[in-house]
Amino acid sequence: MRQRPNIGITTYGAGETGRVNLPVEYVEAVVRAGGRPLLLPPVEISAAESLRNLDGLLLAGGGDLAASLYGGQAHGNTYGLDAPRDAYELELLRFALDQAFPLFCICRGMQLLNVALGGSLYGHIPDVFGEEVIHRAPPRHPIVHPVRIRADSALAEVSGCTEVEPMSWHHQAIDDLADELEIVAEAADGVIEAVAYPAIPRLLAVQWHPELTAKTDPTQQHLFDDFVRWAAER
Ligand code: MN
Repeated sequence: MRQRPNIGITTYGAGETGRVNLPVEYVEAVVRAGGRPLLLPPVEISAAESLRNLDGLLLAGGGDLAASLYGGQAHGNTYGLDAPRDAYELELLRFALDQAFPLFCICRGMQLLNVALGGSLYGHIPDVFGEEVIHRAPPRHPIVHPVRIRADSALAEVSGCTEVEPMSWHHQAIDDLADELEIVAEAADGVIEAVAYPAIPRLLAVQWHPELTAKTDPTQQHLFDDFVRWAAER
């Protein structure tokens, strides 16, 4: 029997709760895709050591990134800041990019990718796009909204379509796009919903939450399936 590839998934830091945690949907989607999930809570271990024996890295969603990471201003709607997680994941991400590791960046993970490569974020989407936001249901809940994927992108090939209606749950978004990234999906209001990093074809980065609907939506599960397959082929 073929061995399952080892998939590292980053988690929330303990903060004041005393528990590191991760929504189980990430774990379940990786298992369905044929991967072996291994959780990576923020710790003081080098990226090389953390990723040793891993075949792929999934940067999961979570709280906001600190504005100081991208030269932005602190915002009143910022929540869930976790400096140790930011630092740990930035180091993991930089190492993984350097090694052309199979990478799947989800929500906060995609924002981190943009920031790591020199881009910036909007601290709070409603400040820029108005209060009629489609990306998160008030006060702070997931919501479905349509996303258009560029037909010539690897994401369209992986998804098997160019129109998707995934679960969205974010109030930050990419502002200045890092030079090395390309936009491959957008929402109707122009918010960037997915990017590609041409230097690393085996990289997926989406602003939405594929894990939340992957169990019932094959289009979203396909993202995990291809990511895990890339990891297996590494
Ligand atoms: Mn969205």
